[in-house]
Amino acid sequence: MQRYRVGILGATGLVGQRLIEGLSNHDWFEIAGLAASERSAGKTYGEACGWVLGSAMPDPVSRMTVTRCDPAALDGCDLVFSALDRPVAAEVEPEFARAGFAVVSNASAFRQAPDVPLVVPEVNADHLAMVEHQGHGGGFIVTNPNCSATGLVLALAPLHRAFGIRRLFVSTMQAVSGAGTAGPSALQMVDNVIPFIPGEEEKLEEELSKLLGDRDGGTVRKISIPVSAHCHRVPTIDGHLEAVSVELEGNPSPEDAIESLRAWRGQIEGDGLPSAPAQPVEVRMEPDRPQPRLDRDAGKGMSAVVGRVRPCPLLGLKFVVLSHNAVRGAAGGTLLNAELLAARGLLPRRDGR
Ligand code: NAP
Repeated sequence: MQRYRVGILGATGLVGQRLIEGLSNHDWFEIAGLAASERSAGKTYGEACGWVLGSAMPDPVSRMTVTRCDPAALDGCDLVFSALDRPVAAEVEPEFARAGFAVVSNASAFRQAPDVPLVVPEVNADHLAMVEHQGHGGGFIVTNPNCSATGLVLALAPLHRAFGIRRLFVSTMQAVSGAGTAGPSALQMVDNVIPFIPGEEEKLEEELSKLLGDRDGGTVRKISIPVSAHCHRVPTIDGHLEAVSVELEGNPSPEDAIESLRAWRGQIEGDGLPSAPAQPVEVRMEPDRPQPRLDRDAGKGMSAVVGRVRPCPLLGLKFVVLSHNAVRGAAGGTLLNAELLAARGLLPRRDGR
């Protein structure tokens, strides 16, 4: 198969770097354009980007010239990945969609737009067909959820499908990389926990109801589940840990819950997506797992790891879930959505190749 040519908006940021890492040597996609702010435009990627990942910056990418986030500058691309901050994404993503691009976005700007799918492929791949109803003139926008919502919904979807969720309490411990390259300073984070992440609790509550809802033509009928979320920034580098208590219909035992989590493969079994983990949810039985440093790379960073599944005296069942915020919760989730678009025949090539 001839590879799709892809551009990255926000290529110099933390998620942009993770996208480059995930796209180097990808069988279906090749990087054909890199864009960022006026500060970076005109420089080589190597000059513009303060690379923070442990893997090396790919050589060919380091020599590419960064452009502005302008559809004309990325005209040779079939699709663009967006790793832009929300206010910039709100302006730029519709411009690309109107110019005929598939925009596969990691930003929050359009997650709640009624005609924009919010997708975690294992959970709601069927929502992707909403793009056929979007009126952007050829292009469209697809989004993936907030990094904490992604790990949480991977653990909740199997329980919701098997039993039905009544209500939910979640308290997050979110890694510093979740705040991007301009996140909190070392002075703010070392020896500290910050019990506030702007907008995060609202996003968790709203996004779950859309992710677990049912597609109705070009939109989604959201479900109504009372969710109480508490979000905290903690001094880990990568990997969001979430402590969850949930009330399920029929009050299943921890053993029954574990069995549904382990058996679940979700909606993309058989699609052959290169970034899909064999096991979307791994369950650990040790009393002290999952831990961010030990478990965030499970399934190459694409699996959610659940542990400490046990009875809860308040809501019936409690557990912890860990997922890699910058891989499954950001770049890897975006990449998986693009692979799903390609596999389901929803990704046209812009020059008709
Ligand atoms: P980041 O490290 O701050 O990167 C932001 C990127 O946007 C940079 O490439 C920056 O380019 C570019 N940019 C800033 N202002 C711009 C402008 N006016 N015009 C064009 N480009 C501009 O942020 P991030 O952590 O990668 O996050 C990117 C998006 O992903 C955000 O919407 C965030 O909420 C979301 N997200 C992040 C995570 C995570 O784990 N970090 C997880 C889920 C979702 P310059 O280098 O040129 O300034």
